[in-house]
Amino acid sequence: MIHSGLFKQLKKMVAVTAIGLMVACMMNGCGNLAPQTASGLVMDTVFTVTVYGDEASPAEILEIGERLDTEVLSKFSESSLVYEYNLGAASEVVENLIERCDGINSASAGAFDVRLGALSDLWNIDGVAKGETEFRLPASEAIETALENKDIIDLGAVGKGIYLDEVRTVLNEKNVTGAVISAGGSILIYGAKPDGTPFKVGIKDPFESSDGTPFGVIELTGEHFISTSGSYERYIDEGGVRYHHILDPRTGYPAWTNGEGIYPVSVTIIAGDGFTSDALSTACFVLGPGEGLELAGQYGAEIIYIMNDGTVITSDGIITENDSRLIFSLK
Ligand code: ADP
Ligand code: MG
Repeated sequence: MIHSGLFKQLKKMVAVTAIGLMVACMMNGCGNLAPQTASGLVMDTVFTVTVYGDEASPAEILEIGERLDTEVLSKFSESSLVYEYNLGAASEVVENLIERCDGINSASAGAFDVRLGALSDLWNIDGVAKGETEFRLPASEAIETALENKDIIDLGAVGKGIYLDEVRTVLNEKNVTGAVISAGGSILIYGAKPDGTPFKVGIKDPFESSDGTPFGVIELTGEHFISTSGSYERYIDEGGVRYHHILDPRTGYPAWTNGEGIYPVSVTIIAGDGFTSDALSTACFVLGPGEGLELAGQYGAEIIYIMNDGTVITSDGIITENDSRLIFSLK
């Protein structure tokens, strides 16, 4: 199963966590109900960990992400299993992850393909968005060639979700009463806040309101994994066209690049595990609401689409209230 290899590594991490905990308890005194937080740059984005309860150290939870990335998932870290796999080394852990992703790819009729590493390297939108390289529109022949190459694995669409699943396992083993783990566009809400009020998860405004006000807020209690994918995250605007980092494996171009009419700019999934929420947010972005609502339903997930004209389309399990701003909750 997918977890076998990751689990072995996690055991080591849990041992490290235990040492960190003892130190934290000595310094702070245990029984502290105020949240503990830590933030850091992980998987090329900002991770923020907030934990209620004194048994888990936020810094150690962040470290799980660093190690998962450098040792397993990263396409760029020379020590990772994926990096070595892309050079031809066999890896059961990577093969199991690919198999799981292939399931979403078949269910989405080819909208979700982690074998598109050659194509994502060719576009290199992440590098361009970070200012590392200049944008060059790839020639259509180069896109065709990259599309045919299925040998380079890119787990960028599921890494944060996989991390959140690992974190949930760790939180379950500890006396954590509540937690919010934010990993870039993917978030785990866990347990409850001490005052019992719902967790509030903002959906970023894809139209970039200058003051950073979220487009809407999701209010949730209980345990949920929430992932958002959008064309406003990593992109370059060139010649009046937005080229962003979510690629349509059926065409080789960023999804909806030449979209006419109404198409998605942001997709949020609420699911029961991180892998599913992260993978589906990418897949459903590529599919659009026509097929995306059905795909989310197949996985028991709820979905919120924000379209390019500002309209919102949600699955049946979402309640939408408009009280000066949009508030979403689960039925
Ligand atoms: P983010 O990583 O910014 O949270 P996503 O979860 O939507 O956003 O993942 C986007 C990343 O997934 C891209 O940077 C690329 O590495 C990879 N990717 C892009 N398009 C696809 C696709 N159709 N199927 C699978 N992976 C994809
Ligand atoms: Mg994703």
